[in-house]
Amino acid sequence: VVDLNRVRKSFGDKRVVNDISLQIRSGEVVCLIGPSGSGKTTLLRTINALQDIDGGTICFHGEDWICGDGKYQLSQTFRDDVIHLGMVFQSFNLFPHLTVLENVTLGPRYHTMGSADELRAFAMLNLDKVGMAAHAQKYPHQLSGGQKQRVAIARALAMKPLVMLFDEPTSALDPEMVSEVLQTIEGLAAEGMTMLIVTHEMRFAARISDRIIMLENGSRVAEASADDLRNGITDARIRRFMEQSQ
Ligand code: ATP
Repeated sequence: VVDLNRVRKSFGDKRVVNDISLQIRSGEVVCLIGPSGSGKTTLLRTINALQDIDGGTICFHGEDWICGDGKYQLSQTFRDDVIHLGMVFQSFNLFPHLTVLENVTLGPRYHTMGSADELRAFAMLNLDKVGMAAHAQKYPHQLSGGQKQRVAIARALAMKPLVMLFDEPTSALDPEMVSEVLQTIEGLAAEGMTMLIVTHEMRFAARISDRIIMLENGSRVAEASADDLRNGITDARIRRFMEQSQ
């Protein structure tokens, strides 16, 4: 579904994403791990064009999506103006002046993805999936961090994403709220959602991933395959990093 080919990005003279190639197949769950500042967030943001790139290509759903020479090759997906990528941020990014339901229906309404009734029904379905249907009429300030993040997940699902991107979805949460969000994400994995997740939650990463990819100084330095995850990770760098981070 997503195919990154030799993607590069520098800030000033600092190479933050260094020739990274990465393929994510439909239904796969891939976690990106690595030390702080290794380029995980930047790489994730290149995929939905929140971050431009200096070189390489990003292909989405079989079509060229972004090229590093500054030219966007407008794919059908872009032309239709519906970007089937869901993004969940560290800090939720809900609209404070909109209710939970309005937050979830805003994107689909903007892209006229259905009638008002259809969008409302689909939003309620997604809120139900994340256990937030009972809070549909509340405003973000009335919710806990974990609840806000679950609404943010429902909002991303409302765009019928082919891929969900998570940028450290639990690092802004109080510890007691981490597990409700991780469980929600695990529920999506069980349904077969394709996901790329930047996380520092190593046990979660080991549990949920089909593959784990480790970045260091902007480079892809190690990988744990599905077999490794089942039978024990052999790569010393990943093992050490996971042990230190727990
Ligand atoms: P963390 O786990 O701490 O979130 P990360 O692996 O996600 O780290 P990035 O956030 O991608 O790393 O940052 C990689 C490097 O790029 C860091 O040194 C950061 O300071 C730098 N960086 C990120 N965004 C920008 C920007 N917009 N301008 C300049 N430097 C940036």
